[in-house]
Amino acid sequence: MQAISVQQPWAFAIARGGKSVSNQALPTAYRGPLLVHASMRVDLKACDSPLIQAAGWDPRDPLATIGAVIAVADLAHVCSAAVAGGPCDCGPWADKGAHHYRLASVRALPRPIVALGRPGLWEPKPSLLTEVETMFATTAALNHTS
Ligand SMILES: [Zn+2]
Repeated sequence: MQAISVQQPWAFAIARGGKSVSNQALPTAYRGPLLVHASMRVDLKACDSPLIQAAGWDPRDPLATIGAVIAVADLAHVCSAAVAGGPCDCGPWADKGAHHYRLASVRALPRPIVALGRPGLWEPKPSLLTEVETMFATTAALNHTS
């Protein structure tokens, strides 16, 4: 398991808004489950962008927080076509000149879990993974009883 720190409001757009591409400066050979962490820095200019507005950006949503894990996804593929200036089919979220981390099976956390992040990919502590798993298990159990 790896984690990736993403600035808000982009992290929110992954968790809630169907953003399935994360633009990164560096490629990675890693594929598999990924914690999506909202970093401490906010991209203020992006909050007004049409893409973010269309993704349902809501600063009052608990997952609009900073410094916390807010979702789990699968890193399915990394597209590097745009780094060399080439075209690709990664869609409206993909930036020119970036590696496109293609995310699948995004699951928003019921509540954010406060955690320190790092730029790019990082390895989450076992205690953090346990906290994420417990939260999903508890939510599933509650849904079954209702
Ligand atoms: Zn691409």
